[in-house]
Amino acid sequence: MEKPICSRVLELCFSMMYDTHCHPYLAKEKSQNLILENFFWSGWEYLNCIAVDIQSSRVSIDLSKKYSGVQAVIWIHPTHCLEYKWALEKTIEDLELLYKTHSQHIVAIGECWLDYHWLQSLSEKYALPKQEIITIQKEFFKAQINLAKKLKLPIVIHNRNASEDVFLLLQESWFKNFVFHCFSEGYDFAMKLINFAPECKLWFWGIVTFNSALKIQEAAAKIPLKNILVETDSPYLTPAPHRGKQENEPLYVRHVLDKIIDLRDESPEEIEREIFENSKKLFTKK
Ligand SMILES: [Zn+2]
Repeated sequence: MEKPICSRVLELCFSMMYDTHCHPYLAKEKSQNLILENFFWSGWEYLNCIAVDIQSSRVSIDLSKKYSGVQAVIWIHPTHCLEYKWALEKTIEDLELLYKTHSQHIVAIGECWLDYHWLQSLSEKYALPKQEIITIQKEFFKAQINLAKKLKLPIVIHNRNASEDVFLLLQESWFKNFVFHCFSEGYDFAMKLINFAPECKLWFWGIVTFNSALKIQEAAAKIPLKNILVETDSPYLTPAPHRGKQENEPLYVRHVLDKIIDLRDESPEEIEREIFENSKKLFTKK
């Protein structure tokens, strides 16, 4: 279907597009370089390349050196943290050293998770009781908060089926400099986070474009604009209208932004400008 004229005019007038969370190195259908060139040649300015382990932390930093619009975010995914469980201190030291060596390219720590969705399969894979896996994930989560405090960086949180535990850890640590990735809760939980940390950011992603995502859409429509960021989490979770047809890529952050514009009362220009400024203020160093 043809795009509305206002949307096409906006695309021509602005290059204020920031995909604040993607993994181009995990793409299968297109090369990492083609994905990044598609994004930057379309006139968009920035993306955050999010790591899932030490190796992809290095990949993110290398991409940041190659492309001026790429910012790196370093950390270990919880399904990987079990592989590092005997070496938490050493892992933190490695990440800190990585930051000190490449600080101009690294803008946050993450993504760090409490992920209770995969507990059963992780328990089978690593032959550990579920409770022990939860304990390890929480140790990594707290270590991440401490490292972020020390380096004065925001953290990127991924919560899956663990909202209340994430909130408790943030409260216990009294840590408010966070972004909540793949926000999948409703308005009430969004406001609980914002009341605790008025400057925190919630990341809206492809799912907000799905007709069934009513509670996420309600949160996107009603929370303060200053708390909203947009992301793709590509190559996963392609937004409508490409859902089910193509692998997701940073360029499709446009569809997430268009949906936020549809849902809210402010003008498209104000929404686009403020979301871009929110992202830039939090992340850019270059
Ligand atoms: Zn991700």
